[in-house]
Amino acid sequence: MESPESSKRSIDASKDLNQSNNAQVDSLRVSVLSEALPYIQRFEGKRIVIKYGGAAMAHGELHEAVLRDIALLSSVGVQPIVVHGGGPEINHWLNQLNITTEFRDGLRITDRKTMDVVEMVLVGRVNKQIVNGINKLGASSVGISGIDGKLIEARPFNNGSHGYVGEVAKVNIQVLEPLLSEGYVPVISSVAATEKGDSLNINADTVAGELAATLEAEKLILLTDTPGILRNKNDPSSLIRQINLSDIRQLIDKGIVEGGMLPKTQCCIRALAQGVSAAHIINGTIPHALLLEVFTDIGIGTMVFGNE
Ligand code: ADP
Ligand code: MG
Repeated sequence: MESPESSKRSIDASKDLNQSNNAQVDSLRVSVLSEALPYIQRFEGKRIVIKYGGAAMAHGELHEAVLRDIALLSSVGVQPIVVHGGGPEINHWLNQLNITTEFRDGLRITDRKTMDVVEMVLVGRVNKQIVNGINKLGASSVGISGIDGKLIEARPFNNGSHGYVGEVAKVNIQVLEPLLSEGYVPVISSVAATEKGDSLNINADTVAGELAATLEAEKLILLTDTPGILRNKNDPSSLIRQINLSDIRQLIDKGIVEGGMLPKTQCCIRALAQGVSAAHIINGTIPHALLLEVFTDIGIGTMVFGNE
């Protein structure tokens, strides 16, 4: 049997071990923070457009971690601008109402009834959940749609081939400037109005790309549910880590990139062609994917860069 003395010694030893573990964790934490300094300095005051996709959002348990990363970016002086999708939540409510929809080229064919649901879910519910979540973490966020301040002016996509699906006709960032200069994190849902006042549903990747270009953002980051652009979309190990504009066009022509990845690659091309320095397609289902991308050298996912 253990003597009281030896039992006390083993408790003391485990205390020592705990303390030394805690000290190691603390020291790691501090060194990670310290290594982030050059990145924080580099991105201070810079704009980073983040598309938070429906696919990444479906992993509810990571929702708070994503919002925490956004709040952290804002707290250290980076200016994040969030554009959100909401596919799974829209599907849920369409199902509840027995409305069926189909996708063509990664875009949802949208009739009048579907559009009403899209607008209610994205602008009324998903947008406010994100804003509320960021506010709860101590940053300040304001949610708007493309309609507010005519941020996005829309026209029917491909002359109306997809119903109430829109494309971006014009971007007016004036409404964002006072928000950004006061330190608010704008959260934007990708619904916009036509000249006649019809609400249209625009792919959120497309909106993020156009906003990044007009805001002269430093980075465009698209959070989704795959590791990035894959050479074989069913094989996560076929990740393309870096790709330039002409190679990405080839992937589109060969049909390697399809479905929901199509608007992503197209918006990266548009954003880079208009002066955004780098566009990243990353896996939003990895904890703290955003911080890994912004605050480390390695980065994650696929980086798309201009040809120069
Ligand atoms: P989000 O909600 O993030 O916009 P989407 O479902 O619209 O997500 O787009 C991401 C999807 O694109 C992936 O889940 C995958 O099924 C599809 N995809 C098509 N081609 C590729 C590819 N080459 N590499 C990776 N994903 C691809
Ligand atoms: Mg999509």
